[in-house]
Amino acid sequence: MSTSNQSTAFPQGQGWFTEVFDSEGSAFSLKVKEKLESVQSEFQTIDMYDTETYGKLMVIDGCTMVSTRENFVYHEMMSHVALFAHKDPKHVAIIGGGDCGTLREVLKHPGVEKVTQIDIDEMVTRMAEKYFPELCESNADPRADIRFDDGIKWVKDCAPESLDIIIIDSTDPVGPAEGLFAVDFYRDCFKALREGGIVVQQSESPLYHSNTIIKDIHVDMATAGATSSHTFQFPQVIYPSGWWSCTLACKGGDATDFRIDDAVNKEFRTEYYNADIHAGGIAIPEFMKRSLGIED
Ligand code: SAM
Repeated sequence: MSTSNQSTAFPQGQGWFTEVFDSEGSAFSLKVKEKLESVQSEFQTIDMYDTETYGKLMVIDGCTMVSTRENFVYHEMMSHVALFAHKDPKHVAIIGGGDCGTLREVLKHPGVEKVTQIDIDEMVTRMAEKYFPELCESNADPRADIRFDDGIKWVKDCAPESLDIIIIDSTDPVGPAEGLFAVDFYRDCFKALREGGIVVQQSESPLYHSNTIIKDIHVDMATAGATSSHTFQFPQVIYPSGWWSCTLACKGGDATDFRIDDAVNKEFRTEYYNADIHAGGIAIPEFMKRSLGIED
């Protein structure tokens, strides 16, 4: 998924799905057994493939979203970093997240009392239920409240100081998701957060977007009232450059602090996230320090 891409989904029978990122002169392909389904919702085109080696693949408007084989890295980094960075998260909102993988991870935290997921497109969740049932296995948890609405409007209407964490698990900053990368939206997020609250946003590719999208997120989050922000990076095979990030911004406190003992002693299974990964994520590559104006 990249803001500067176009997809060339080979016609069925040629055996490959390819997402092309013209402006980066790069592309990503997966060998495909068959195209399983394609639906046009009110908001986007959702394509589902069965691949040779990555299981199922969901594509939205030509951008890879999630595959069976590798989605755990993204969903664990989009949830556990913020949850262990918060002192005692009880009320969480997920903006986007329609494949429900992030929701499943958030619900692994026993202290969480309520998770409201607001995706603009119900069709994404219906397709996830059909082709990624393992990501939807916690949807019936009584703490989960799955809604379908524009996250921009939902956050604007949210009761002030009612949330501990807001996870922005959206598509790229184009189309319906464009407004989720704007300072006005961040202001509404900080209004909805309690003191000590955290916003975490999927923040695209460190290699491709450090000087643009990631830098803008830090600037706009500070304008919106963040006391601290930090970008964590992680491998993301099916996204542009194979290198992805999430950016945390805090309403009070430091985005690099976390409950290390709780992370070390977590009582639930993960495949990627652990306390060492969290601590390691605090390190920032030199080129990103320069892009983000981080002094040593
Ligand atoms: N984890 C995958 C990733 O980051 O690529 C996929 C995340 S999920 C599929 C992205 C979701 O953002 C989509 O389901 C899309 O419908 C949703 N989305 C885009 N704009 C939105 C908005 N304004 N409000 C709520 N959800 C939105």
